[in-house]
Amino acid sequence: MIPRPIQHLLLAALYDAFDQWASTFAFACRKGCATCCTRSVTMTSLEGDGIMAFLSQENRRAELIGSAFLPSGKQTGQCTTNTFVGAHLRGEPVEEAESWDLRPCPFLKEESCSIYPVRPFGCRLFASLDSCAASGVAEMPPGYLAGATALLQYIEHLDNGGRWSTMMELLAGMNTGQAEDYGEPTAPIPGFLVAPDERALVEPLLQGLLAREVNGQTFAQWLQAARP
Ligand code: SF4
Repeated sequence: MIPRPIQHLLLAALYDAFDQWASTFAFACRKGCATCCTRSVTMTSLEGDGIMAFLSQENRRAELIGSAFLPSGKQTGQCTTNTFVGAHLRGEPVEEAESWDLRPCPFLKEESCSIYPVRPFGCRLFASLDSCAASGVAEMPPGYLAGATALLQYIEHLDNGGRWSTMMELLAGMNTGQAEDYGEPTAPIPGFLVAPDERALVEPLLQGLLAREVNGQTFAQWLQAARP
């Protein structure tokens, strides 16, 4: 398993590559627009570690014992990103989530994210070309979701041995040291769901990231090292 500090360096490199790529699109998202900030955001325990450290630094761990973080005690019915992609690639049916919890995220304070520097990738990827406040529907450029989904897969793959769930559920478990009781185990990359007409948009993002050097090895080599 890749040591945790290096996993965090890899995550930072991924966020940076994504930010550069996403900045080439004319998204309408602005501070104060928080339609996508719901309790259905999912993440890995690697991203959860960063949030836990941030909350500790800010002396805010007590927020995690609030009612918003009470474990629901029921399975979300979701499968991880890599499990979902693997099932699609094999042509197997994929279980739909039981229900989405669309109540506002408890980290949303005065219409701003109060954990912005460490928000998980599931938050970072949400974007829309049009203001979605009225319709509640995000308008994404063709190929954008395929690229973002590939990065979700990289993060899950790097967090080999970790857990995947909704942010609320996983943080509740991590706060009590029982994260392994929540969500699903992370899974390695089984392949990608990038359509032929999306490749021209997605390849520069992926190839640029894979060639990046992090702690003496390329991102691609670290991905290989993370394979179980
Ligand atoms: S963590 Fe921040 S960006 Fe993510 S849903 Fe909550 S308030 Fe929004």
